Amino acid sequence: MDLHDDAAGAKEHACAEIASCESLEDLDSIRIRYLGRKGALTLLLRKLGQVDPEARKSAGKLLNEARDAIASLLESRKQELRERKYASDLSAGSIDVTLPGRIFSIGKLNPVLRVMDEILQIFVGMGFTPVEGPEIETEYNNFDALNFPPGHPSRDEHDSFYVDGGFCLRTHTSPAQIRVMKSQPPPVRVVVPGLCHRRDTPDASHLMSFYQIEGLYVDYDVSLAHLKGTLAAFAREVFGEETRVRFRPHYFPFTEPSAELDISCLVCGGKGCRLCKRTGWLEVLGAGMVHPNVFRQVGYDERKVTGFAFGMGVERLTMLKHGIGDIRLLYENDSRFLKQF
Ligand SMILES: [Zn+2]
Repeated sequence: MDLHDDAAGAKEHACAEIASCESLEDLDSIRIRYLGRKGALTLLLRKLGQVDPEARKSAGKLLNEARDAIASLLESRKQELRERKYASDLSAGSIDVTLPGRIFSIGKLNPVLRVMDEILQIFVGMGFTPVEGPEIETEYNNFDALNFPPGHPSRDEHDSFYVDGGFCLRTHTSPAQIRVMKSQPPPVRVVVPGLCHRRDTPDASHLMSFYQIEGLYVDYDVSLAHLKGTLAAFAREVFGEETRVRFRPHYFPFTEPSAELDISCLVCGGKGCRLCKRTGWLEVLGAGMVHPNVFRQVGYDERKVTGFAFGMGVERLTMLKHGIGDIRLLYENDSRFLKQF
């Protein structure tokens, strides 16, 4: 057995076959016959072990050279055959070069997140700093410290997801008020965006998880007028210069007095229509002056500091802004719906 002769012979045969090969399929079968797992060259390389050490070195070198030469010939022939096939397809008209290119669709932020960014930018422009709080919150921060007495309906298990050890999934972003005030002296001017969770049955206006933005401003001379001015400016920025606002008395445990902010109807401008249920007004958010009990919980002197807080549902604002009638549409991930925004 002479590996030198075998290698030279295999290389010669392979080169001749490759040169006369006329199709990509045939070329691949040549590759398998010589370089495949049971190919001629592969088998010869395996025999190297049986050759005496003297001859092994030169035989190995020769075999490797033969293998590399065959591989590079295969590659260049493949390229030639491909180009030839492409040219003949083109002249036969089986490739239509006038077809438009493939369009790859690029994802973008959900409209809710974009409205959230827009809202945050407006408040940042007014001097508020965005901060975040945890989604798993202590029951104390979520309820007690915010002046929700133990028997308050929001604490009922039907409204909250409880976690062992005195924790719950936060039902609003307001507990961040407690965290921020406990960590610094006044003044405080923050906005808190984040996901909240309640045991609601999903319908056209409710989801179990939703985004809120909380705002808090505490200082030594903050008044209701500041609250009204801030929110009126916000509403005009989001919904347009001509938007009118009104405050309607309301109740929240952690603010006193409390109010809900309505804006003039975006569809009828205040004349009354189906969207505003003939009232001419749309409810947008809740707000009020921080309750003295909340200041006591965080160690602020309630006789010296005053402040306001507000909270809004980002999905609700997104729906109003874009005229969306059902909150569930925002999260069904239907690209036909989402690409409108
Ligand atoms: Zn209306």
